[in-house]
Amino acid sequence: MNAEVKTTTCYMCACRCGIRVHLKDGDIRYIDGNPAHPLNKGVICAKGASGIMKQKSPARLTRPLRRKKGSERGAGEFEPISWAEAFSLLEARLRKIRAEDPRKFAFFTGRDQMQALTGLFARQFGTPNYAAHGGFCSVNMAAGMIYTIGGSFWEFGGPDLERAKLFVMIGTAEDHHSNPLKIAIAKFKRAGGRFVSINPVRTGYSAIADEWIPIRPGTDGALMMALCHELVRLDLCDRDFLAQYTNAGYLVNVDTASGDEGLFACANAEDKTNPFRRHDQLWWDRLANRAVANHSEGADPALEGEYRLVDGTPVKPAYQLLRDRLDECTPEWASEITGIPADRIRALAREMGVVARRDSFELPIAWTDSWGRKHATVRGNPVAFHAMRGMAAHSNGFQSVRALSVLMSLLGTIDRPGGFRHKAPFPRGTPPVYSRIPNSPDAVQPNKPLAGAPLGFPAGPEDLFIDAEGGPVRIDKAFSWEYPLAVHGMMHNVIGNAWRGDPYRIDTLMIFMANMAWNSSMGSAEARRMLNDKDADGEYKIPFLVVCDAFQSETTAFADLVLPDTTYLERHDVMSLLDRPISDFDGPIDSVRVPVVPPLGECRPFQDVLVELAGRLGLPAFVNADGTRKFKSYADFVVNFETEPGSGQGFLMGWRGKRGDKALVGEANPDQWEMYAKNNCVHHHPMPESLQYMRNWNQGYHEWAQQMKLRRHPDPIMIQIYAEVLQRFRLAAKGKGPSARRPPPHLRTRVETFFDPLPFFYLPLEVQCSEKEKYPLSAITQRPMAMYHSWDSQNAWLRQIHTHNYLFVNPETARAQRIADGGWMQVESPWGRLRCMARYSEAVEPGTVWTWNAIGKSPGAWGLEPDANEFTKGFILNSLISDRLPGPGNGISNSDPVTGQAGWYDVRVRISRA
Ligand code: SF4
Repeated sequence: MNAEVKTTTCYMCACRCGIRVHLKDGDIRYIDGNPAHPLNKGVICAKGASGIMKQKSPARLTRPLRRKKGSERGAGEFEPISWAEAFSLLEARLRKIRAEDPRKFAFFTGRDQMQALTGLFARQFGTPNYAAHGGFCSVNMAAGMIYTIGGSFWEFGGPDLERAKLFVMIGTAEDHHSNPLKIAIAKFKRAGGRFVSINPVRTGYSAIADEWIPIRPGTDGALMMALCHELVRLDLCDRDFLAQYTNAGYLVNVDTASGDEGLFACANAEDKTNPFRRHDQLWWDRLANRAVANHSEGADPALEGEYRLVDGTPVKPAYQLLRDRLDECTPEWASEITGIPADRIRALAREMGVVARRDSFELPIAWTDSWGRKHATVRGNPVAFHAMRGMAAHSNGFQSVRALSVLMSLLGTIDRPGGFRHKAPFPRGTPPVYSRIPNSPDAVQPNKPLAGAPLGFPAGPEDLFIDAEGGPVRIDKAFSWEYPLAVHGMMHNVIGNAWRGDPYRIDTLMIFMANMAWNSSMGSAEARRMLNDKDADGEYKIPFLVVCDAFQSETTAFADLVLPDTTYLERHDVMSLLDRPISDFDGPIDSVRVPVVPPLGECRPFQDVLVELAGRLGLPAFVNADGTRKFKSYADFVVNFETEPGSGQGFLMGWRGKRGDKALVGEANPDQWEMYAKNNCVHHHPMPESLQYMRNWNQGYHEWAQQMKLRRHPDPIMIQIYAEVLQRFRLAAKGKGPSARRPPPHLRTRVETFFDPLPFFYLPLEVQCSEKEKYPLSAITQRPMAMYHSWDSQNAWLRQIHTHNYLFVNPETARAQRIADGGWMQVESPWGRLRCMARYSEAVEPGTVWTWNAIGKSPGAWGLEPDANEFTKGFILNSLISDRLPGPGNGISNSDPVTGQAGWYDVRVRISRA
């Protein structure tokens, strides 16, 4: 018998732990954690260990399939075809679209980890209609933080629990950063740290929190504002941090008659450090009692007060405007909204402020700041936060996350030990300017790549991707006046918009790894109806649907063409610095997957399919000058692709250069995959200590990051207490400001209201339009620790842990409706009704009911038996959620009006005994 162990990277969830796959005679015997891996250090979870059952899934797709002629979508009746037929069918269709109107091809992907490749394919094809799943996941967390502090939680930053003393977690049950966070929390608690969890439900990590503070869903923003109010009132903010490293001292023009109202007053000094970002904003120097350029030698900025510039313009420091805003946000005000007693809010704010000051410490690490000032130490204020989708997935989430970011900044915890720390390639600008989206429909031309990146970070109305009338260019309306900062796109709008033809009809929708007909749609029954709906001529309204997946799901049944993907154990993958690496606080880390077993049947890695398709279509980045294919396979592409000819920057940063002796930048190395495989599939590049902290303003770091092509410009990344970028949109809505672009009349109030440069709280849009008496409860979902969305419904081991779900109800709430523990009940929202089983739980606040996401299944899906619990007892809450809310015309999308984030957790319901 031939036994061997191969290392690769897990993909049973998005955390990307290192694993060892133990094989005997080529068969997988078991999988365990890789102790030599920097992320999980040998720890493995139930999902990771159950990867073997994914290989044996009854739902595996093994051949390309075409919908049978005459069969209806949804019936799941297919005929197998060869890959040659599948490619020629797709190639012909896409070639025609590309030559006529590339917008007619929409390419949207789910929880994949290859967006650098899929985005490149879309851009090269020339379609603007591309995005991954972020818009319906946690874009508010990413955008709210990146626009404020230049980084975000999870792979781009997180809590430094090694040195924190107080850890506050908000809206997080099970996390994407699962095993590393578990390891860090365990260590933190053993070292005596205090862990507070703020969540409507006490599950997952909250189970081991020292204190659980139940909160009503969608009200986190009010709590954050009240905590800020208290920190300011008690004078517990880090003044020096605010003055030097944020824009708190920048002077804001407060002349309401001025065209520049709400913009920063500037010295009009020339500064070439970054052509996309000014650095000449004015301070009011308290010592000289006059306006000076920020960070002028010897100046000390006023953070409070009101002043007049020499030309008479009235100005206030941004911090004063924040103070004015916070005045009304008392703990009593927040208590009414959140359900948390006012005294508890006061005590929490005091605890944060006191720990940040009393336990403050200095590390003997010398560094130089962006203004050339040398520091002998790095200071730590040991209060750390972590927040995720529970805070983000509301239509008020962007401003709530802004409020959290401001709170973290008031405490002086950004990129400092014991607080929040960035991970490479972050920090980036606020907002980043490295990838610029096009701002005119002219960017889309037949047979040409898109003139710009499909996704990016608008910094003002000029960056919106709109036409001359102000209408959207993209099918999902991202980067339009409706959702100006939809930085992750809006996958949840695609089926509805394409079906309505709003803004236009498409021809082919290609979906990769997303269960859009079931748990990934708001209102899944409606999504299925739209996929199946036909025009008067008998043609489907969405004419051609390609689904690429490894498993038969509810969505594959609607496909016209199914392309069978491999599992994570059968292919090459990269967790790239160009995309979503696994970096640590101390430096960049990227990692790979390598095949440990051959693909089942005729499965092909989707990346290989894309590289082949791109070659056949002659997309410029994938072909030589003579039109021949440049890359044999995805593995070949990864080794040889460069971001620009001769840039030396590719998908992998490790073992670059001809001999593999360079990191981050260097020529292609033909042996790169082997070197990763020999080194636990991971490359770690720790930076010198002097570059590991205060990276927003660390000169040494910026020089290094520029050399390594992580940043284009070496300018400081100022924290945006006051987000001038938002004010630029707001001014346009008021008919003022530097941009000539104006929102269409029906969106002006919306833009003016929600693009507030200071964080503010408003009730989620759906809550505002729901009848509170009729639907008194909030309904939310969570992902269980033992399953990752719908990925594990067919996993024989994991189904023994969750084979169906309950609706968890506080006993007090359930008894009031005479609903028994374990009894059947009815749940009704304005959008639908379902039957499910109740489970009493003290671990949920009385105004909320909740369930596990994506365990309930549609009969016949996922290769399950006809009487499987997943559909006899299980349910999904999506049928109670709507992607539209009442509004003019077709209504408005149930999304955040700033970022387009899906408002998953805003639905209101009532319950009764069934
Ligand atoms: S946390 Fe995720 S990546 Fe890590 S072992 Fe578990 S399933 Fe795999």
